[in-house]
This record gives sequence, C-alpha cells and structure tokens, in this order.
Amino acid sequence: MAQPEDDGFDAVVDNLMEFVGDEDVQKGTAITVILFLVACAIYGIYLFVMAYYMEIIGVLILGLIIYYYTRPKISYCADCGNILGRGEPSGPCSRCQCNRWTQRDPGVGMTFKNR
Ligand SMILES: [Zn+2]
Repeated sequence: MAQPEDDGFDAVVDNLMEFVGDEDVQKGTAITVILFLVACAIYGIYLFVMAYYMEIIGVLILGLIIYYYTRPKISYCADCGNILGRGEPSGPCSRCQCNRWTQRDPGVGMTFKNR
C-alpha cells in the first residue's frame, strides 16, 4: 500500500535537490545567506549598542583620555625651538642642524647656546 504523503515528500525533495543543484540558484542562495548573516550581525551590533551605549561611550572617553596622556610628546630643537614631530626625532634639526632636542617647549630665543 503506497503512502501518498511519503511519495509527495520524496517528490518535493527531488524537485528541491534539482532546483538547488542549479549553479545560479546556488550562487543566489549563497548571496542570500551571506546578506542574511550580515543583516543579523548589523542588527546584533545595533542591539548591543542600544543596550550598552552608556558603557560604550564611557570606554571611548576612557580610551581617548588614555591615548591623550600616553601618546608621544612633541620634540623640539633645543637650540632654535623648531618642532621636530612626535616621539624621538630621527635626524638633526632641519633648520639649524642642531642634534640636541628636548620634549619641553624651549621657547623661541630663550635657550642658551652652549657651543
Ligand atoms: Zn634647530
């Protein structure tokens, strides 16, 4: 005795496998799945931000404060006060060729010339 429900199910599965076997359909399915996952990720991030926005803002402000106080200081030429950039300068002053430098603002015209 045949079972019509099983036959119908088998036919549906056969049709589905034939349909999915098509290359364009596989591509479209992959794109759909990827778009769905991306949408889920964006929605998850949105929910996370909505739930924890105060904490996120706090962490951002804390990070900015830490960055502000730990970033490399500005280097100045110790002779003429020329700004040599942040961190240790890689070469002598481009203006006066002096290789003495400091990270405290020497001021212009306030340093002694010891040479
Ligand atoms: Zn200089």
